[in-house]
Amino acid sequence: GADMTKPSLTLILAAPRGFCAGVDRAIKIVEMAIEKWGAPIYVRHEIVHNKFVVDSLREKGAVFVEELDECPTDRPVIFSAHGVAKAVPAEANRREMIYVDATCPLVSKVHIEAERHHANGLQMVMIGHAGHPETIGTMGQLPEGEVLLVETEADVATLEPRDPERLAFITQTTLSVDDTAGIVAALKARFPAIIGPHKEDICYATTNRQEAVKAIAPKADALLVIGAPNSSNSRRLVEVARSRGCDYAQLVGRADEIDWRALEGVRAVGLTAGASAPEVLVDEVIAAFRDRYDVTVETVETATENVEFKVPRVLREPA
Ligand code: SF4
Repeated sequence: GADMTKPSLTLILAAPRGFCAGVDRAIKIVEMAIEKWGAPIYVRHEIVHNKFVVDSLREKGAVFVEELDECPTDRPVIFSAHGVAKAVPAEANRREMIYVDATCPLVSKVHIEAERHHANGLQMVMIGHAGHPETIGTMGQLPEGEVLLVETEADVATLEPRDPERLAFITQTTLSVDDTAGIVAALKARFPAIIGPHKEDICYATTNRQEAVKAIAPKADALLVIGAPNSSNSRRLVEVARSRGCDYAQLVGRADEIDWRALEGVRAVGLTAGASAPEVLVDEVIAAFRDRYDVTVETVETATENVEFKVPRVLREPA
């Protein structure tokens, strides 16, 4: 029965939320590498942008570093799901290291697009966030100067391509669907000959998580996104919620970061998780709400997902 001592609150769970197929695969790659080769296994960059995931892999024997030169040459190294510049595996080869590339296949697909356009003599425009590892990795597929970065619609006006008639665009996979549509439109307006993917390179997981937030945001007085501050797709979910009228939308790493004061008087809270946030953290947040409220959980499902990616063959073979 209802607990009369606690205020009642509805938690509206977004579905899909949390882990995508690329993150799931990257974590499996680290776990299977530790099983195959033993600890320590080096991982270049946070395998996925989530502290909980990184800490639990560290406990199992993963060592996280930022650059290859921090790794010994006699231990295997794994490249993160975000992808790496061509120079990184080249350097690993030069140092005769064993490496496993955990780049999400949907990021690799963008790398291949960039190379194909480059081979056809086109200069690339990448829509992405400066400094994000995926942007660095994707731009690093081509020689310096071959990929021009735009972050906003305003950036489009200042682009100085070699030849405005010979351009193609690619995007980061975790962008805001709506903002990117605006940037693509600006690119096409200024460079009518520009070639690009049918829509953009934003992945299914990013698109689905944003759609689900759009569906719950209008019903929620507040919305929490479980995710890390350096997680691009998680931050976009907060922006999407705000753009759909949910003024109090916040990123939380886990339950202990919830600002309960800010939620005072709220009756319906939307809840989702970025593509790198494990479901245990969603359970933890729900439990924290149950401690304080008489909670009714409602799920709003806007898509079903059944994408799964295989781990690289080297990990499927016995040691
Ligand atoms: Fe791959 Fe998309 Fe997940 Fe990134 S968010 S790892 S591109 S499935």
